[in-house]
Amino acid sequence: MYDVIVVGARCGGSPTAMNLAGAGHKVLVVDRATFPSDTLSTGVLSGDSVNRLRQWGLLEKVCAGSGTAVYPGTRIHVAGEAFDIPGEALCPRRTTLDKILVDAARDAGAEVREHCSVTGITRDGEGMVTGITFQSEGQTGAESARIVIGADGRNSFVARAVDAEVYGEKDSLACAYYSYFTGFPVDRNDLHFADGVAALAFPTDHGQSLLAVMQPSAAFEAWRADVEAGFRKVFSAVGLGDAFAGATRTEEYRGAAQLPNYYRKPFGPGWALVGDAGYLKDPVLGQGVNDAFRDADLLSAGLDRVFRGDASFEAAMSEYQQTRDAMTGGIYALNHAFSALKVTPGLVQTLADAAAAMQAARG
Ligand SMILES: Cc1cc2nc3c(=O)[nH]c(=O)nc-3n(C[C@H](O)[C@H](O)[C@H](O)COP(=O)(O)OP(=O)(O)OC[C@H]3O[C@@H](n4cnc5c(N)ncnc54)[C@H](O)[C@@H]3O)c2cc1C
Repeated sequence: MYDVIVVGARCGGSPTAMNLAGAGHKVLVVDRATFPSDTLSTGVLSGDSVNRLRQWGLLEKVCAGSGTAVYPGTRIHVAGEAFDIPGEALCPRRTTLDKILVDAARDAGAEVREHCSVTGITRDGEGMVTGITFQSEGQTGAESARIVIGADGRNSFVARAVDAEVYGEKDSLACAYYSYFTGFPVDRNDLHFADGVAALAFPTDHGQSLLAVMQPSAAFEAWRADVEAGFRKVFSAVGLGDAFAGATRTEEYRGAAQLPNYYRKPFGPGWALVGDAGYLKDPVLGQGVNDAFRDADLLSAGLDRVFRGDASFEAAMSEYQQTRDAMTGGIYALNHAFSALKVTPGLVQTLADAAAAMQAARG
C-alpha cells in the first residue's frame, strides 16, 4: 500500500512525486511512456518555472542537458512595435526536461515504473478511490494507495474515471504546428502576431530553434495538407519570410487541431489532479509547464499536511484548488484573448504589466 500513486511522470507528476517522496511518503509513479521521450509541446518555461527548477536543484542539469542558458523573458512584436515581457525563460526539449524530472523523483525515493499503462481505478464500497489497475510488459496488475493522483495530461484517464467536474470552459480558438530548425538564430522567445496568425521562435537544445505557427482553428483542415506552405505564408506575413526561407528543418512537423481551455475540480474522495489533467489552456503563452510545476508544489504541500495529520483532506485540497484558481484566473483570461490571434499593443501591454506585477510579488 502506497501513500500516493501518481499516474503520469512528466511536468505535473514527477515534481509531485519528488516532493512527496522527499518528505518521507511512500510514492509510486507510473507512466506508459519510457524516458527520455518526447511529447506534444514546444517546451517553453515561462512565469516562475525557471526559478522553481532552481529551487528544486535541477536548473543546472536542465541547462547542461539542453546546452542552453537562461535568457530574459519574451519579446512580442505586433503592429510594428516590440514589447519586452519581463522574466526568465528557457526552452529545453521535453526529451531533456522530462528525463531530468523523472530521475529527480526516483532520486528522492519514489518508485518509478515506466512502460506501465493505467487501465482502471479501484474503489471501495463507498466509491472512494483506493488504487489502480495497470498493464505492463504484457502483465496486468493492481496497486493500492491512500491517494491516486492523475498527472496524466490533457486526455487524463484519471479525471475521466472519477468524472471530475469541469468549469470555466472557454472555446478552442487556435490550432498550431511546430518543428525544429537550424539557420534561424534566436536568442529569446520571439512572438510575432499579425492579423489572425502568429509566428513564434524559441532557442532550444544545442543551438537549434523551435519555430511554431498558430492560425485560427478553422484553418486546420486546409493547412494540414501542406504544413510547410502555411509556415511560409505566416512567416512572410510577419516580415520573416526570408529568414524562414534560409532555415533548415531537422524534424517532422507536429501539430494540434484543438487547444481546449478549462479547469477541473482537482480533488475528490481518494483522488487528486495536477497539471493539464486539472487545468488546461491554449499553449499560445507557454503557461502549461509553469502551471504544472506550481500545482505540483501546491498539491504536494497540501498532501504532506494531510499525511502528517495537520489538515483534513477536504480542507487542504480546497485550499489547493482555491490557490490555483486565484493565481491563474487573470492569466487564463489573458491567454485566451491571445489565442484569438487578434493581438493589439494594448493587450500586450496588459500582459507586460501582469508579468511585472507577478515578478514584483515574487520579490
Ligand atoms: C502544441 C502544444 C504546444 C505546447 N507548448 C508549450 C510550451 O511551449 N510551454 C508550456 O509551458 N506548455 C506548452 N504546452 C502545454 C504543456 O505541454 C503541458 O501543459 C504540460 O506538458 C503538462 O504536463 P503534465 O505533466 O500535466 O502532462 P503531460 O506532459 O501530458 O504528461 C502526461 C503523462 O501521463 C502519461 N499517461 C497518460 N495516460 C496514462 C495512463 N493511462 N497510464 C500511464 N501513463 C499515462 C503520458 O504518457 C504522459 O507522459 C503545449 C501544448 C501543446 C498541445
